[in-house]
Amino acid sequence: MNLIQEAYFRLFPDREFPYDAELNYNLRLSDFNSNVRLYGNKLSLNLNLQWKDIDDEIKIGLIQTLLLKILKQKKNTPNIELYHNFIKNIPILTPKTETDNVLEASFQRVNRQFFSNQIEPPNLTWGTDSRTKLASYNFHRDMISVSAAFKTASERVLDYLMYHELLHKWQKFRHKNGRSFYHTSEFREAEREYPQQKEVEEEIKRIIKRPASKKSLFGWLIN
Ligand SMILES: [Zn+2]
Repeated sequence: MNLIQEAYFRLFPDREFPYDAELNYNLRLSDFNSNVRLYGNKLSLNLNLQWKDIDDEIKIGLIQTLLLKILKQKKNTPNIELYHNFIKNIPILTPKTETDNVLEASFQRVNRQFFSNQIEPPNLTWGTDSRTKLASYNFHRDMISVSAAFKTASERVLDYLMYHELLHKWQKFRHKNGRSFYHTSEFREAEREYPQQKEVEEEIKRIIKRPASKKSLFGWLIN
């Protein structure tokens, strides 16, 4: 019996397996991602290659989660619990390969001031010089990325962006399913604890209105 059938029978012991099912591993999905498609009775599950070496009991939980999504049903099983616990620990298991002195210093300040040093250091990187995506947190990579537009910003601005992303990490980690709630009222309330939030946001607005760095504008003239 294959894993999909096993997952299905553990969910619905009395039913017959109704699908022509296949399980594929590929590299096109991002870290620890997966998806499911159903055409007629043809069921395809795609898992990122990283899943291949993960314990079958955890994979069964993942497959059950995908099956329930297709069936628009809610259920909890021991395997789904295992899967959720695994997901929750991904940031701890993720190797820390990227950091940067400026971002690291910001992380340390914010972690000390707002989280009693309880947050494990994430990967830290500068993103592109974006004025629309200022910063982001990728749970699967445990990575905070900050737009290069803030490379010369004041500490309070950088720390504010760091605080926002660490709130995301903190919330996801605390939640049992590793699910994200994004900007809930609870999140906004926590965000308002940042000192002089209004002024800091004004400063951010000024930074993103500035044209992109002179180097990229005139670089071709100089070189
Ligand atoms: Zn956010």
